[in-house]
Amino acid sequence: MIEDKNTPRTQLSELGEFGLIEHLTQNFTISQPSTLYGIGDDAAVLDFNQKKCVLSTDLLVEGVHFDLAYVPLKHLGYKAVMVNLSDIYAMNATASQITVSIAVSNRFTLEALEELYEGIYAAAKLYNVDVIGGDTTSSTSGLIISITATGFAEEDAIVYRNGAKDGDLLVVTGDLGAAYLGLQVLEREKQVFKVNPNVQPDLDQYSYLIERQLKPEARKDMPGLLKALEVQPTSMIDISDGLSSEVIHLCTRSKVGVNLYEDKIPLDPAVISTSEEFNLNSTTVALNGGEDYELLFTIDQNDYPKIKANPNLTVIGHIVDEKSGIGLVTRANEKIELKAQGWNPIKE
Ligand code: ADP
Ligand code: MG
Repeated sequence: MIEDKNTPRTQLSELGEFGLIEHLTQNFTISQPSTLYGIGDDAAVLDFNQKKCVLSTDLLVEGVHFDLAYVPLKHLGYKAVMVNLSDIYAMNATASQITVSIAVSNRFTLEALEELYEGIYAAAKLYNVDVIGGDTTSSTSGLIISITATGFAEEDAIVYRNGAKDGDLLVVTGDLGAAYLGLQVLEREKQVFKVNPNVQPDLDQYSYLIERQLKPEARKDMPGLLKALEVQPTSMIDISDGLSSEVIHLCTRSKVGVNLYEDKIPLDPAVISTSEEFNLNSTTVALNGGEDYELLFTIDQNDYPKIKANPNLTVIGHIVDEKSGIGLVTRANEKIELKAQGWNPIKE
């Protein structure tokens, strides 16, 4: 963390646990009709009427999932919320509440946590979710954040990973690979900074990539768009670990195979140019980079006319039977088996 000598550094011990919780949560307001009671009691109270409730949780650990050397705390707070909301949207549900739990070491000041909560607040406001609770405790080293998100949907609107069937089209939102390259650029700058702290990096040409890494946006728009288009996906998953690994999850859970076409994978021009600069294959980057937080889903072939004109949706392949395998059809028209190289901290 780059410390500014002019900002106050209030030790957390000056507030105590309850003072800290009070301070961090004072700005949160309730806007969802399904939140009957939020922060302040032993538990929050929710009411989804006739709707089904979906719930998902994630844990982010300093040094494993993020590096505070180049991730500002505000961005970290924002991203931690996005990671969770993305899972709710991947069920084709509306996100409505989150809880935020943190473990912090005494290395962190009140001002640092205020920054983290600014990011959480901004994300909650923009995505219209209530912060309804959490937990606060100390850690002997570093920062741990766990967010749980809830949402709701009509039972028959919910989309699982396991519904893809032979002949369905495989569709992806947005474009892929940018977040991974953003991380490569930031890591390179960190190394340059270590050698010469006076170098002011010119990162203009990488702004899209860095934004995708530091400030990803979850696809809040998709459940509504799909409903408006009258498309009910047969299966869906969000892209957190990389296209390859998510395609494999969908196919494995659905017991089907796929032909994924290399030349159809949507790439931003900055992904193509920066892949070249880093001597990386842009297809590999899109397949294995991860952290795009786009959605990957399958639809019935008959629904194709409903989605084909939408610039946010790209058909990248089609589902085949299980024994035909999970394959990437290359630009040279060869089918090779897709392998997941998705980022997995357990394997490292
Ligand atoms: P308990 O002792 O029951 O765990 P706490 O004193 O930890 O209760 O929490 C008091 C209230 O503040 C609860 O509503 C809890 O959900 C909320 N809360 C605690 N920590 C956080 C946090 N980091 N962010 C948001 N809400 C929190
Ligand atoms: Mg508690």
